[in-house]
Amino acid sequence: MFYKHSVSLLSAICYPLFAIRRLRLIITPVSRVSDLYRLQQIDTEIALRGSQLAAINDQIANSPAVLQAQAEHKATQDSLAAARKQAKTLDDENKSLTTKIKVEEERLYGGRVTNPRELKDLQAEIDALKHKRESLDEKQLTAMDGVEGAEKIESAARANLAKVETARAGEVSDLIIKRDAIQSLISNLQENRSSAVTNISSDDLTLYESLRKRKRGVAVAALANSSCKGCGESQSSSRIQIAKQEVEIARCANCERILYGGQDAGYTTTEGGDGDMVTRW
Ligand SMILES: [Zn+2]
Repeated sequence: MFYKHSVSLLSAICYPLFAIRRLRLIITPVSRVSDLYRLQQIDTEIALRGSQLAAINDQIANSPAVLQAQAEHKATQDSLAAARKQAKTLDDENKSLTTKIKVEEERLYGGRVTNPRELKDLQAEIDALKHKRESLDEKQLTAMDGVEGAEKIESAARANLAKVETARAGEVSDLIIKRDAIQSLISNLQENRSSAVTNISSDDLTLYESLRKRKRGVAVAALANSSCKGCGESQSSSRIQIAKQEVEIARCANCERILYGGQDAGYTTTEGGDGDMVTRW
């Protein structure tokens, strides 16, 4: 009697539990397509973040402003070098001329030349050399002004380059912070992906990957009302029914993508700006 009561009691307790479990099996959608949809959402975000990462890496590697400032500075350095070279050439020429004048003057006043005609020629030559040196002196003054001007221009370009490089250093620091944040986000997404994949059969995964390759990265398309969000094609009611049950895979009649007819998997793709990197599940 006690045993019978016990069995009845056990049945009375357990039956509702079994019933609830059966009910849950009926009302809880099988997650086959939900899992694929979730994977799709993760892959979409990984692709988005990957593009952002590539763009940031490109910005870190290249700075048009710094390149321009460097090129401008290099041009002023070249101009300065040319101006200095010209001044040096004129200076050398002047020194050589001065030496020549000195030698000729020593001959003129040394007493070794006594022939008046020869002395006159010597004086004429010295006068010509001195005249040439005067003209050279003027050229040298102009060249020195040129060097001074080129130095000022080079100095301004150098200061500008330093300013641009300082600004760039701050910019790179910001970019590195953004890059690291995106890399960390991608790592989290990869972990989420690894865990999402474990719920998916190898056949479904093969289909998913093959569709993703052929369909510009989107293998699973949600239903919007009765249309495929991937291509906009309206779907038959039977196909919508299959998609909503999520037990079997329903494919879009037009683009062949897997149709997802369930509730959103709770995943929000973060398509905001650079500062918006919140991924919710
Ligand atoms: Zn479609």
